[in-house]
Amino acid sequence: MGALRIILGDQLSLDVSALAGLDPASDIVLMMEVMEESTYVPHHQQKIVLVLSAMRHFADELRRQGISVDYVSLDAPQNSGNLSEEVQRAVRRHQPDRLVVTEPGEWRVQELAAEWGALTGLPVEMRADERFFASRARFADWARGRRVWRMEHFYREMRREHAILMDQDEPAGGEWNFDADNRRPLPESLSAPARLRFAPDETTRAVMALVRQRFGDHFGGLEDFGWPVNRRDALRALGDFIAVGLPQFGDYQDAMRAGGPFLFHSLLAPALNLGLLSPREVCRAAETAWRCAAAPLNAVEGFVRQILGWREYVRGVYWSLMPGYAQRNALQATRRLPAFYWSGETPMRCLREAVRDTARYAYSHHIQRLMVTGNFALLAGVAPREIERWYLAVYADAFEWVEMPNTLGMAVFADGGQMASKPYAASGAYIHRMSDFCSGCAYDVKQKTGRNACPFNYLYWAFLIRQRERLAHNPRLAMPYRTLAGWGPQRRAAILAEADEFLDRLD
Ligand SMILES: Cc1cc2nc3c(=O)[nH]c(=O)nc-3n(C[C@H](O)[C@H](O)[C@H](O)COP(=O)(O)OP(=O)(O)OC[C@H]3O[C@@H](n4cnc5c(N)ncnc54)[C@H](O)[C@@H]3O)c2cc1C
Ligand code: SF4
Repeated sequence: MGALRIILGDQLSLDVSALAGLDPASDIVLMMEVMEESTYVPHHQQKIVLVLSAMRHFADELRRQGISVDYVSLDAPQNSGNLSEEVQRAVRRHQPDRLVVTEPGEWRVQELAAEWGALTGLPVEMRADERFFASRARFADWARGRRVWRMEHFYREMRREHAILMDQDEPAGGEWNFDADNRRPLPESLSAPARLRFAPDETTRAVMALVRQRFGDHFGGLEDFGWPVNRRDALRALGDFIAVGLPQFGDYQDAMRAGGPFLFHSLLAPALNLGLLSPREVCRAAETAWRCAAAPLNAVEGFVRQILGWREYVRGVYWSLMPGYAQRNALQATRRLPAFYWSGETPMRCLREAVRDTARYAYSHHIQRLMVTGNFALLAGVAPREIERWYLAVYADAFEWVEMPNTLGMAVFADGGQMASKPYAASGAYIHRMSDFCSGCAYDVKQKTGRNACPFNYLYWAFLIRQRERLAHNPRLAMPYRTLAGWGPQRRAAILAEADEFLDRLD
């Protein structure tokens, strides 16, 4: 035969480079479900269902196009459970003359793939992943020689380079960034739109049965599974978001509401990260909505910035700094992850709601991740690797290249400022302003100290006191450090004692 073309679980795009030039008469596509990929962290049950079901749908699509697919299912009798073994077994079955693969999205898998040549004795053609706006090399070019990396600078270059939301050389609407308009709390009277969810089809139901049997002890439930698992449904999800979510995406991007996990967010990250949608078509669809006056510019720019800006930027950070990035711990945080991150059992309502939504939907939106679960981990000094593995396990969209920089760089400042110019540390006042969580909480967000005080309040100040050596020089933290300087030693000691007592109880 000709080439064995390997398609990994997050490469489910017909235009992925590993399929370019495929000869259906002589080439075979290899797809593998392996135990190791489902268990290297204890993935949410919905995430395993999503990936395996999407892989099976993609294999069916390839077969419909007349392509031979060798699909190794998880319960195949000889399945060895790991990718490298399965590649070797497939080589023995098909005797190809070469292997073709698109560069894996994660460092761990790239390390495995680097060995496939030696393991099989065959030439391996490792092709660039062209599904992103910026190649790894393009990001490295941008980053070279810069003392500090800032997403905003990279984003502007990407806007120009890809002519997205541009009027000739100028940004559409005269501004690059409308973030200042995008921080409104949600008015009580405004209801979030119902969202298009997808009932599991026969393929998904079969995978659900397998997952219940093999991974029934993993976090999260399957009852509310509603993710698109093929391209047709992913396109429908995109259309639904553009129609009902995008117009208000900007205004309420940072808002949170109990019982409203989705609000105006797109829910598209799982489909994007698997390859069912391309970032180009998603950004173009949003821009078209603005040009047709179906959505305002602050919403469309805010949305495009997440994809053309943040998504591409974090991928660049990941590939530029791995493998050392995974070990960063700039604030020397060492605490174990509190048990309530898995159980949701805590009197702190914001955290309880975030964990419960996560268990139910394998989803919570960016601000819940950053300012609730992330902020708490930062203030409590949870070890970066502990919280990072949690995010990787619990979200349907979690793939290391995007999850790790968001966690280490944005949420817990473990990279010391590579990603963010200051830690996203906040007291309860922020959560109170942006959500309705505090009204039903056992704690009082207005109290700064004492048994009923919101723990975020004293943890915030204790964090700043403890990290003074590392953070006080940061100009973006000048204001809180000025406030602290006005407090006497007794007050500071009392705050630290209160925080310690709370954290001891957590353990
Ligand atoms: C601690 C932490 C962990 C995260 N882990 C992941 C992860 O594993 N996978 C993941 O895709 N995103 C991750 N994010 C980014 C972001 O929270 C999710 O992309 C978003 O919540 C997904 O929901 P959505 O599709 O409704 O996004 P929307 O709010 O509708 O945003 C639109 C799209 O923009 C992209 N996007 C938005 N913010 C970011 C960002 N900060 N970085 C990269 N892309 C972004 C996503 O593709 C998303 O689908 C993480 C953020 C934090 C703070
Ligand atoms: S009072 Fe504090 S702990 Fe309770 S919901 Fe508000 S911010 Fe969270």
